[in-house]
Amino acid sequence: MTQKLDRDGSVRPGLPHVELTGFEILSDDERVVQDATHKFARDVMRPMGIAIDKLSAEESIAPGSPYWDFMRIAVESGIGFDADPGDVPPQLLARLQAIVIEELGWGDMGLTVSLAAAAFANMMAKRVGNQELIELTEGKLGCWIATQPDRGSDGTMLYPDERHPSATQGNKGNLTAKVSGGDIVINGQSSAWVSNGPVAQVAIMSIAADYGDGFFDDGGHPRGVEVIVPLDLPGVSRGKPLEKLGQRALPQGEVYFDNVKVPVRYAVSLGDDYWRGHASTWSTAGVGMGQMATGLARAAFELAMQYAHERRQGGALLAEHQMVQYRLGTMARNVETMRAVARRATEYTVLSPAKHPYYTGGSKVTCTDLAFEVADEALQIFGGYGLTREYPLEKLFRDARAARIEDGENHLLNMKFGYLNALLYRASL
Ligand SMILES: Cc1cc2nc3c(=O)[nH]c(=O)nc-3n(C[C@H](O)[C@H](O)[C@H](O)COP(=O)(O)OP(=O)(O)OC[C@H]3O[C@@H](n4cnc5c(N)ncnc54)[C@H](O)[C@@H]3O)c2cc1C
Repeated sequence: MTQKLDRDGSVRPGLPHVELTGFEILSDDERVVQDATHKFARDVMRPMGIAIDKLSAEESIAPGSPYWDFMRIAVESGIGFDADPGDVPPQLLARLQAIVIEELGWGDMGLTVSLAAAAFANMMAKRVGNQELIELTEGKLGCWIATQPDRGSDGTMLYPDERHPSATQGNKGNLTAKVSGGDIVINGQSSAWVSNGPVAQVAIMSIAADYGDGFFDDGGHPRGVEVIVPLDLPGVSRGKPLEKLGQRALPQGEVYFDNVKVPVRYAVSLGDDYWRGHASTWSTAGVGMGQMATGLARAAFELAMQYAHERRQGGALLAEHQMVQYRLGTMARNVETMRAVARRATEYTVLSPAKHPYYTGGSKVTCTDLAFEVADEALQIFGGYGLTREYPLEKLFRDARAARIEDGENHLLNMKFGYLNALLYRASL
């Protein structure tokens, strides 16, 4: 550490070592990956995300929209969630994954979710090592269909005991599968929230299933299937792209199924394995949310820091007022906390022999709630300008707001993390 002499001759510490991501030490290899991803996030994602945000939902997915330019450039640049990790050791893989996804979230959260959802079917085909499904999903724009108009949080209820005491049965929802004679036949509709719903070519679906014995087991819990479905099959249709508050660069919308038939070998988890498979898929999504939210919050913090060094009030730059320094300190602490939590959840999920979505859900809540707090405070530092569309903060605020419902509503996930801890306590008695 360099030391400098003050005018009075005393020695004071120099500034600490920091990386792009603050107080940590990266290896040279990690820094190279981070720099390359940051450049893509800064030069491609950020401007395109802002441009798409201003379009209507229809315009944003029309031919010639910046959304398609973004997807093309991402593919050409080798940026994607389905990249083959090669022989990277798992611990390093977890670190790199967290570093890369934070940068993408810094660029644009909606586009990051779109990239993640695009790769989801292929990732799950790889998880189960099914070569036919890997080839079927390779290079295709994917989506994850789980929620439905009448089945939002209910689809995340892994254990029958989570049901309200007055409910005799679980909820099979509006989109279901019948599994018989070597086929899976799907009927119904997804929610309007399916990320990439209007543009996806292939889906991984997590839905209730009847294996010939009804939709519910003896305990009243729905049976299910996780199945990969090409979305150009007869009987598939789409709703209108959804107009919404935040993450507007992410196309969302309903997908409808009218007697859509796929072979049962397209299932990635079925029968008694379904809930374990669904849990594994969902925990993969949960860690990604924490990493992206960290990037979003860092973007908001950096913009607030920059503005605090431009805006003068009370006879000084905002950054020269101690009250503002205090507020910047709180934001910086929150970003550090988010990064630590997201990295820990990533490492656990990559390395653990038994990962769990109620744990990754807990990390998702910490990160997305803090991202919202940071974006809110950054907007506040901008004062009235924070509210206008001329400045970048109101978009980040809207994007962060959506994340508190996306991939599981935060109060509900918090409740599930408490429930998981209670299960662990009871198991330890
Ligand atoms: C940006 C974004 C992207 C998304 N992407 C996808 C996607 O790719 N694929 C997909 O399938 N879905 C996706 N979703 C849907 C998302 O997963 C759901 O919105 C979320 O799970 C909540 O479901 P819901 O909206 O139906 O709310 P509900 O489940 O109806 O919840 C409404 C309220 O009731 C409370 N509540 C619900 N159940 C209980 C309970 N048992 N006990 C106590 N309180 C309860 C909740 O806490 C919440 O406040 C996305 C959503 C967003 C916002």
